[in-house]
Amino acid sequence: MKNRNHLEVPEKYWAKQNLCWYFHEIIVSILDNCITNNKMETEVVFKSEEDAEKFQKSDDKILWLYKNRYIEEAKNLVGKNFFNAILREMCEFICESINALEKGKISVALSLQRKAFGDNLLYLEWLLGEEEKFLQLVANKRFDKYAVENISTRSKIDIMRDAIKKLDNQAFFSEINVQTYYDMRYHINSDYSLQRIWDKVNILSTDGHFKKSTELNFVFSDEDNKIEYIDYYYKKVLILLYYTYNVVIKLYERFIRKLSQSTKAYNYSLISYKFTKEFGNTKSESIFKGELSVFLSFICDNCKSIKQIDVNSEDFHNFENGSGFYCDKCGEYINTSRYIFLEDY
Ligand SMILES: [Zn+2]
Repeated sequence: MKNRNHLEVPEKYWAKQNLCWYFHEIIVSILDNCITNNKMETEVVFKSEEDAEKFQKSDDKILWLYKNRYIEEAKNLVGKNFFNAILREMCEFICESINALEKGKISVALSLQRKAFGDNLLYLEWLLGEEEKFLQLVANKRFDKYAVENISTRSKIDIMRDAIKKLDNQAFFSEINVQTYYDMRYHINSDYSLQRIWDKVNILSTDGHFKKSTELNFVFSDEDNKIEYIDYYYKKVLILLYYTYNVVIKLYERFIRKLSQSTKAYNYSLISYKFTKEFGNTKSESIFKGELSVFLSFICDNCKSIKQIDVNSEDFHNFENGSGFYCDKCGEYINTSRYIFLEDY
């Protein structure tokens, strides 16, 4: 990635750090696209002039829509705004967390993830998996029912399972054990749990001292442990970021607009390539040989020409590192770390 300062992360993690930024920027580019060309506006066609007037005068517009049988309109309105607000907040926490890690502030980096993957992601999963039920709770302001701390383990797992079923790429996601995703985020006694780390981080930051507990003593107490936690951070966060991207693009399709098969196939191949390469399932070049080489084409935003890159080129190396290259025609920089909506060209 361009001009990033990796000073406080050991060099062997730079590729992982770049990949965190890459996923973050993919998700942010989807968020940014939601607010272009009035996509956040929801059109309500009233059945009568009278309804339109009553709606204008109502104090709670959403409840009015629900009560007066504009159910689809109400769901679209609440869902779209909730999706946008939660995702915006989530992106901020993820960005701050990756930044903190880059500066060597590991406990800060981990605690910022709590909000993103403990709260925000669960709401996005719920909105995707059980839209009807969730939006009713939001519209009725039943915060007691949807506050994350009040959601039982069983319900959290059900929410995740329902969300995973709705994702594209079922060849990959149907193989996922939901319990693993749950444990990764919430299970206190699991070695894989972020919750366990978050709890430790909290104890440390509230009183500023290490407690007399053997378990707590190993938290960030020396350089080896610091490395252990950096390692831990990347392993968990990269999986969760990739998963988040898959959830976000389905919600985009539900609330913003449907995407063409070519847009989905194109982005999917580039983004999943990065993910699978990191987790050791593919050989880098071979995947883009033959038919798939067409996916190594990038559009210049400035002159709209297409630049096709070769797997053996420096440009491909730049793409792999999460940066970009220059347009052959107009010389503008082509950023490859973004979701590319082919329907916008
Ligand atoms: Zn150009």
